[in-house]
Amino acid sequence: MTEKDPVVEIDELHIELCILQSHLDRLLSRIHQNEAKLHRFQSLETQLLAINSLRELVEHILEDTKAVFELDFVSLVLIDPKKELQQFLKEDGLAVETRPELIPLTTDHQLKPWFGKAFHAYLGPCKNHHRMLFPGGDQKPASIALLPLVRRRELLGCLNLGSSEPTRFTYGMATDFLDRLRSILSVCLENTRNFEMLRRTSLIDALTGVNNRRFFEQRLGEEIHRAQRTGEPLSFLFVDIDYFKRINDTYGHQTGDMVLAEIAGQIRSQLRNNDVLARYGGEEFVAILSGAELDRAMEVAERIRSQIERHTISDQNNQPIPVTISIGVSEYNPKLVPSMSKEDTRGLMELADQALYRAKRSGRNQVSRGGVYRKRSQREQIAV
Ligand code: GH3
Ligand code: MG
Ligand code: MG
Repeated sequence: MTEKDPVVEIDELHIELCILQSHLDRLLSRIHQNEAKLHRFQSLETQLLAINSLRELVEHILEDTKAVFELDFVSLVLIDPKKELQQFLKEDGLAVETRPELIPLTTDHQLKPWFGKAFHAYLGPCKNHHRMLFPGGDQKPASIALLPLVRRRELLGCLNLGSSEPTRFTYGMATDFLDRLRSILSVCLENTRNFEMLRRTSLIDALTGVNNRRFFEQRLGEEIHRAQRTGEPLSFLFVDIDYFKRINDTYGHQTGDMVLAEIAGQIRSQLRNNDVLARYGGEEFVAILSGAELDRAMEVAERIRSQIERHTISDQNNQPIPVTISIGVSEYNPKLVPSMSKEDTRGLMELADQALYRAKRSGRNQVSRGGVYRKRSQREQIAV
């Protein structure tokens, strides 16, 4: 046996040491990466648990999951048999059509067979039948993780993660993070859905489907504060159906109810999503137009009035029921009145109510200008 040259031996040892060192470095860097991922995951978890609006939940899921898990594709299926969730999102300003990665389905028939009876997550290649989960663009993920969101054996939706790397999600790999994410999301989704339903049923008028007076009273205060924060005005509309008693007397109370619901829908259709419309009582409605000064609000009110005049509502015999409305309008400008007491808020509403009264007295089917609200002391100064 020939002896190795000690210099060569030292060199070889050195090389081996370098290799070991680089393995160690790689392991350490992976530990650091996992630690950072865990921190990001924990902060996502805390954020998700604090959310109670569906829009926020959906946005966090779609945007943050992608960042936290460093993914190329994320989409979310919501099982929405009555299209209620879509409605909630729309009311909160998120139109489903504008987010292709949000996929509402009216049934779970298509999805359920993918997960089996125990609702197991799917990890593996993106097969043809999975492609509908990753719409938009030509690119499709090479590997995917589909996490069914389940509560009380009901499939609520499915979070779909995709990567361009074929080995990122493979069958049988450890899924601790993903399992945890899916449990949390299932609870969050169920809670937000229930919360949104409760919020709406207790704040919505059952006959007309628009908000009720309780909601309006809460929102008016909030809208006034918002105007004070942004410095933008808001306008207030008082709407009353003309001679509504006659409609009840002529066609019956049930037809009267139908007319009320129809008018509410027509008014709503003329407002923006973030304007507030509520049934104030009987055949009276109120609207808050945020960011609108008096002139603009007068235009909107006139549009509503003429829309109702033109719109045909028919009775049981298909005969048209002539209906008109009168509207009074007032404006709150935070630059003129920086602080509003309860009495001032009542004053703002009274200004529109007095205008409505004038519209009625001058023949109905018209819009009347109530003016810009000023405190009593400011009014006196102007008078002097
Ligand atoms: P004006 O042009 O002066 O407003 O006349 P009006 O007949 O509309 O006003 P009035 O206040 O005399 O009558 C309001 C009517 O609205 C009386 C009431 O029976 C009817 N009303 C209130 N709430 C409802 C409801 O929920 N359904 C039906 N069908 N009628 C209602
Ligand atoms: Mg009335
Ligand atoms: Mg009336």
